[in-house]
Amino acid sequence: MMPLLRIERVSRHFRGVAALDDVSLDVPEGSISSLIGPNGAGKSTLFNLVSGFFRPGAGTIALRGERIDGIGPLRIARRGIARAFQIARPFPGLTVAENVRVGALFGSLGRRDVAAVTRDALTLAGLAARADQPAANLPLGHLRRLELARAIAARPMLLLADEPCAGLNRSETEEIIALLREIHRRGVAVLLVEHDMAMVMRISDRIFVLDAGSKIAEGPPEAVARDPRVIAAYLGTPEED
Ligand code: ADP
Ligand code: MG
Repeated sequence: MMPLLRIERVSRHFRGVAALDDVSLDVPEGSISSLIGPNGAGKSTLFNLVSGFFRPGAGTIALRGERIDGIGPLRIARRGIARAFQIARPFPGLTVAENVRVGALFGSLGRRDVAAVTRDALTLAGLAARADQPAANLPLGHLRRLELARAIAARPMLLLADEPCAGLNRSETEEIIALLREIHRRGVAVLLVEHDMAMVMRISDRIFVLDAGSKIAEGPPEAVARDPRVIAAYLGTPEED
């Protein structure tokens, strides 16, 4: 079966440093997958390539078999990939609802059903009661849900979520997990970057592990957690290993 997203032999260098070196991975339809790896592994670079903020130096990226590398962020959003940023940067002058509306307008439906899609995303994210408040006043846990609401209002087939739980307490983290599961239940595939290993193990069908720009492992959570290369990447190994 054709994967939802196929990343094939992708490389990206920054001033001679390989942020990603010959990385291939397939995100299956209907999955919650996670991308993990130590700092500097290339996770954010991969998200930047998939969402069109950067072009790959080599390789191809395809969504349901159609090339999307090099077509730019707006066209990629219209094709059905939405991204929730780690650092939530809402338009501070706009209300919560207006921020979500922006997501709807730039998403896969364009101007169709903007009001209904906005309302639905607000309700899903538990933000309906705060719809008319300035987004700038939201606490961090709500800001993260606003990021996800804005992304989901774009009606994507694939949601990229970059550390949606970073800095959140346990109950806020549980809210985000429940929200991601509900988004997934509605038929959206999810690709997560997440540091919280317990959360990754709980929520993922499949895990991809990057280290220093290369994919070093992939598979179901239990197998990845036992993989010696993964353990070494996280814990470090003696020079000679
Ligand atoms: P991760 O998200 O896994 O922590 P990144 O993708 O942010 O890793 O970074 C991978 C490598 O690429 C790092 O060495 C980082 O310094 C470098 N890098 C990422 N983005 C840029 C950029 N815009 N300019 C220069 N170097 C970058
Ligand atoms: Mg990063």
